[in-house]
Amino acid sequence: MLALPHVGDWLSSHLQCALHSIQSMLSAHAVTKYNHPIALWILFAACGVTELCISFTFCTPIECIRPLTRWEKRNPIAPDILYAFFVRIVLFPLIAFFEYDWLHRHIAGTLSDLGFAQPSFAALVPALQTWPVITFALNFVILDLADYWRHRLSHRLGWWYGVHSLHHAEDQMTFWSDDRSHILEDAITYVWLIAVGLAIGVPSLQFPFLILTFRLLGSVSHANTTIGYGWLGNHILVSPRFHRTHHALKAAGRRSCNYGTALSLWDVAFGTARFNDDTVETGDAGAEPALVHGSWVEQQRAGFRRMMRLARRKRSSVTTRSAA
Ligand SMILES: [Zn+2]
Ligand SMILES: [Zn+2]
Repeated sequence: MLALPHVGDWLSSHLQCALHSIQSMLSAHAVTKYNHPIALWILFAACGVTELCISFTFCTPIECIRPLTRWEKRNPIAPDILYAFFVRIVLFPLIAFFEYDWLHRHIAGTLSDLGFAQPSFAALVPALQTWPVITFALNFVILDLADYWRHRLSHRLGWWYGVHSLHHAEDQMTFWSDDRSHILEDAITYVWLIAVGLAIGVPSLQFPFLILTFRLLGSVSHANTTIGYGWLGNHILVSPRFHRTHHALKAAGRRSCNYGTALSLWDVAFGTARFNDDTVETGDAGAEPALVHGSWVEQQRAGFRRMMRLARRKRSSVTTRSAA
């Protein structure tokens, strides 16, 4: 039986209960082989889809009631919806739990054999063992800092911006746009966050919920809305206007700013913040049409092509004008 530790008794018991229900349902349909991993996959995919439903329920009204802009002709959003479900149903359960849990247990076992305990906030301050909410918040801040630097680097290295530009090619940005990214970039992001998560000892079951929290805040920050968090809130959290500035046409590539994922305070601390910008139009003028309006497969191919083109250019500029 899977242990579901370190996320608080309330959540742990509810997840355990849901897992038992899914296993019983699978058994009733004669799914006995791989019953447990399939049940776990369904459980985490359901958590991912639930988060998407929360994003939809919150973001759709604010985009309707307080829109920043309206488009005469709306682009098809089918590829963006496909990205959103692909991330929640395939990538999220596979990487955020199965991969992370396997590595976490492997490292903890190896360290234990060597006589060491895995480093973590709870190990550092034993009192935190009974305060999972605080360790969750601390781990969230560290992972967000790591993601700030990952994102900033992705704008500095030409090949990396090639795949990241799929995210920037969106010219009608809405909350659906958060998940619009190249599968190679998704892989890099997860490897990056998993490495940091393991280094600071994020518990196995806390990691996927940290990822879902990032996804939820990411959806809101991409929303097409004028709603903000107030002066103080905007200087702590990434607001829709703050992130739209990052997506501005003039800010594609190395000229960008506002790299924060959830917390804007990293941009303030490292001098990359730009507030009070009036950006409405988003996109990347150097992106080929397939990267902007192609199907899911066409966008992936175009992102890969651009990555190869920019990788071949030594000392190239990844500004939109120089990237063909
Ligand atoms: Zn970016
Ligand atoms: Zn974005």
